[in-house]
Order: sequence, then C-alpha cells, then structure tokens
Amino acid sequence: MSSLHHPTPAAPHPADLSPHPGPLHARWAEAAYQKGFDLMARVQDRYHLALRCRQCGAVSMTKLYVLMNNQPLCRSCLETARAERATAAGLSYLGPDPDHPQYGLFRAACGHSLRRQFEIINRVADGQIGLRCERCFAQKEQQIAARHGWTRIGPDPRGNPNYHLYRHNACGHDQRIARANLQWGQCDCAGCGETWTAKPSNIYLFEIRYNGLHLLKLGYSANPLKRQKHQLGLPCKAHVTLLRSIAMPTGHAACATEKRLHARLRRQHPDAVVPPNDYRGVLNVVSEVYHPWLRPELERRLNRIAETARDGKAPGAGRAAAIGDEDGGGSKGGGEHEAGC
Ligand SMILES: [Zn+2]
Ligand SMILES: [Zn+2]
Ligand SMILES: [Zn+2]
Repeated sequence: MSSLHHPTPAAPHPADLSPHPGPLHARWAEAAYQKGFDLMARVQDRYHLALRCRQCGAVSMTKLYVLMNNQPLCRSCLETARAERATAAGLSYLGPDPDHPQYGLFRAACGHSLRRQFEIINRVADGQIGLRCERCFAQKEQQIAARHGWTRIGPDPRGNPNYHLYRHNACGHDQRIARANLQWGQCDCAGCGETWTAKPSNIYLFEIRYNGLHLLKLGYSANPLKRQKHQLGLPCKAHVTLLRSIAMPTGHAACATEKRLHARLRRQHPDAVVPPNDYRGVLNVVSEVYHPWLRPELERRLNRIAETARDGKAPGAGRAAAIGDEDGGGSKGGGEHEAGC
C-alpha cells in the first residue's frame, strides 16, 4: 500500500479532529487495514491518526501507538453493540457514564434510569442474572411496610442487608426489622408492645399442583398470598390456587384455630394426611398437607370456622372478625396465582 500524503477527501472531519501536517506511512495504513480500519489522516498532533471503521464507516481518532501495538476500537460499533445488548436485556441504552467508562446508563421498562457495568448487562442479556430497578424495589418495600403500619426510614444501622430501619407509625418508635418478617406482617413493636399475634390474620386453604403432584395445604398467615410466594418455597412452575381465606381477628386466634383443626383432622382422617416424603423438595413444610379428596370435609370445617369468626367467638377474638381484605371479599378466597419467584 502506498503512502497517503493527504486525507481522503471523503473523510468527514469531526470538528475536534484538526489536521496535522506530515506524511502518512504505508506501514500505518497496512496496520489500520489489518485491524479493520482505513487510515485517513494525521490529526491533532504527531501522535494521533484519524481512522475510518470498515464496518460502519465512522471516523475516530486513535493514538498512533495504539494502532501499531493494539486493536483500535471503533466507538460507533462499540456503542451499537452495547445498545443491542441492552435491548436483549430488556433495557434501552442511553449512553456511557461520562465519569466511569465501564458503566453505562440505561432506561428500564418501568421508566427509571439505571447505571450498570456493561459486563453486568451482558450477563443479564445472556440470562445468567436478573436485573432489579432499585427505585421500584424501594417503592415496593415502602408499600409493604405501610400496609403493616411501618415506614422505612433507612438501611440497617448494623449493616445487615436483610434488615432495614423502620418507624412504627402508631407510636413513632424506630426499630430494625428483618425485611422478610415485615413482608408477612410478623413484627412486634418494642416501643408500644403491639404484636403481630394481636393483629388480624387468616386461615387459608391452598391447592397446589406441580409435576403430577396434587395437594391441599392448610395454614394461617397474616397475608396468605405472601405466604404462598415466599414461605412455602414452591418451585416457580408450581400452580397454586387460593381456595379459601378466612379472616381471623388475631394471629393468635388463627394459630389456635388452625392447630386445633389439624389435630382433629389427624385424628379423624389420618389417611388424608400426605406423608412429607411425597412433597419433599416441593414444599418446605413437613405437615398440614392433605390429599385433595379431603376438600369437601375441609370446606365444611372452614365454613364453621368462618361463621364462628364472624360471630366474634374465635379464640382471642375481642371483636367481630373483619371479613375479607386483600383477597377480594369474605371467606370465599379467590384468584389463581403462579407461585412467584
Ligand atoms: Zn465501526
Ligand atoms: Zn423502576
Ligand atoms: Zn409501636
């Protein structure tokens, strides 16, 4: 390849690429060609060259040293590739972080912007890891706390990521609480002594189907939907239906009623109790699981419990049970839910 003593007329010169006088040597042009570029011109000073990417046609400035000793990068191709990886990761690419070259800025589907290392986005695009919007996550945690009467005021002062610092709305007391416990409303306030066992709860009946397994799970929880998703440890593909959710005036009443019911069922229908070995690895409980044929009997007993709870006669009931909240009304539970992950 012959020496090029003048920039090719077609070469677009970005404003900051001021031509620099001097010869363009053949060995530079050859190196550029081998590395996917056309040598265009000397620019800025005696150490810099303008190269045109043979892939995309974009002109960029490269140090002579980099051209001769390394693989020059085409920023335009790099940014195109980054945008494609972002799309594959479910994001739109906004550009590199001007202060930290290994970080990019992205717009998430929720509308919030995220800042992540490009390497992380590659792994998300490949399905190796997930991606969480911190602001949406914080909002969701704030809503969960509010539902149980608490306000998140900061991270755990002791630095445990599984805990946050919360303020009890009722009394203003600040306290660190395990996030998982707050999700299920299981937190006692050390300031005013309010306990989760004194708060409303529910007796629930779930139907679980997974890989030919068909089970009924009976239990109690302040929030049966949360219980299903997080506490039972069900596989993602398990299909769970909330058959019943009976509002109980207190966690204590729900616990006592549920335990009495299990004791009777074990005594009167021992063959309906599913051995834990049958659902090992699917459910992380070891009891309170029944064969589906017991459902009519369970429904009859739950009807009686619902009536008693409504009349305010449940153990520990100081007032009539508030019937129905999140599950959309009364003791008739409803809605089908995939076990979430
Ligand atoms: Zn390019
Ligand atoms: Zn978000
Ligand atoms: Zn309190």
